[in-house]
Amino acid sequence: MQERSYPRLRLLAASLLVLAALGCEAPDRQEGAQSAAAEVQQMLDRRAEALNSADLNSFRGPVAPEHRKVEEPVAQRILALPVKDISFELQTGTVANTFPMTGVSAELTYRFEGTPQTNTFSIPVTYGFDGPPDAPVIAEAAIDTDQLPPWFGQHTGVSSTEHFLALHRPGTEGVQQVLEVAEAARTELQRSVPADLDPVFVVVLAGDDVDYQRVTGRDLLEELPRVARAITRFSITPELYQARYRHLVVNLDRMEREGTGPQTFQHELVHLALASVTRPITPGWVSEGAAMYVANQRPNWTQRVTTGSFDTASIEELSNSSQLGGERPSGERAGLEYAYAAGAAFYLIDRFGEDAFWSFYRDFAAVPPGLIYDALPTVPQPPGEGSLAELTAGTTARLIEENFGLSFDQLDRGIRTYIAASSG
Ligand SMILES: [Zn+2]
Repeated sequence: MQERSYPRLRLLAASLLVLAALGCEAPDRQEGAQSAAAEVQQMLDRRAEALNSADLNSFRGPVAPEHRKVEEPVAQRILALPVKDISFELQTGTVANTFPMTGVSAELTYRFEGTPQTNTFSIPVTYGFDGPPDAPVIAEAAIDTDQLPPWFGQHTGVSSTEHFLALHRPGTEGVQQVLEVAEAARTELQRSVPADLDPVFVVVLAGDDVDYQRVTGRDLLEELPRVARAITRFSITPELYQARYRHLVVNLDRMEREGTGPQTFQHELVHLALASVTRPITPGWVSEGAAMYVANQRPNWTQRVTTGSFDTASIEELSNSSQLGGERPSGERAGLEYAYAAGAAFYLIDRFGEDAFWSFYRDFAAVPPGLIYDALPTVPQPPGEGSLAELTAGTTARLIEENFGLSFDQLDRGIRTYIAASSG
């Protein structure tokens, strides 16, 4: 299973555009003086440089003493983590033209050693700035500590192998063994996934169900599977789509009890490996089908064939959401949809070959980001509803036709025949 979420860029970008359209003039300013926004960005760049060189004094410098305690624990933690390329990104739509400014949004961004430059993580910070204009100071700072990732909380232990950086509670047992399973899964994956694998993957090791629930923020009663999940956050503008924040969360206790280590790692690594070509309009049956095919997870089709429960399954219905299982990814419906998604991937590859299937997969990433950006809901919507669902379904119908010459109905018939034949 994978989790994909996106920030509030859509609203900010819109406000920027409006400003330009109105052609509003900034207040008079003596010749050569930089804009307030530029002054603030420069000050934040100096702070980021200070953090990159572990110079906490310079980092604290421009902050009003009574507000230093807000960022201090985060700064200390960042210096203890194997990270680099720390920077501050100002959300320019929230910066005023003059001082004092309040409610300015910024992102403290960094990446883990060895990971690709595209895989950045960030912490939202809200600032207030005060003059003088040529030496702005931070008059207020706020960080939502509930939103901080687990490596800013209890998971301060760091372990690594050639291709994995693991974050876990200090004293967690069996970390090296789990990373060896992950390494073997990655090696296997290199042979079967048409994507360049990240040189280093980030994985958070949760000790048990309770820890997994805390780390993922998901209610275990709602969740299927409870062993691991791939997490990606994407940012999107009309011009650019970026898959960031890519990491795995693994439930060590369940993985051991269920003995599904190798397959689970392969499955979830597929999601991370394909994150750069997966879009909010990539249907869940395609992304999950792909992961189950590569991890050779053939669900038990026989029982469902016997009870005829696949007769109601429909690729057209599954093609309006990037998730499976709708609002309840735990129930019987999710189990049925995962089984049908696996059937779809195994069938398409069996009939048209892996290359055709991967080119079909990549075609979703060829959809212009502007189309996806415009279809993104500005308020949360149930999966499978609204403009994003329409774009997902329309794109899928077109790509199934273009890549396989099939309609939704023809594909359903093919899947059912394949599943019936495979369940013997
Ligand atoms: Zn999955």
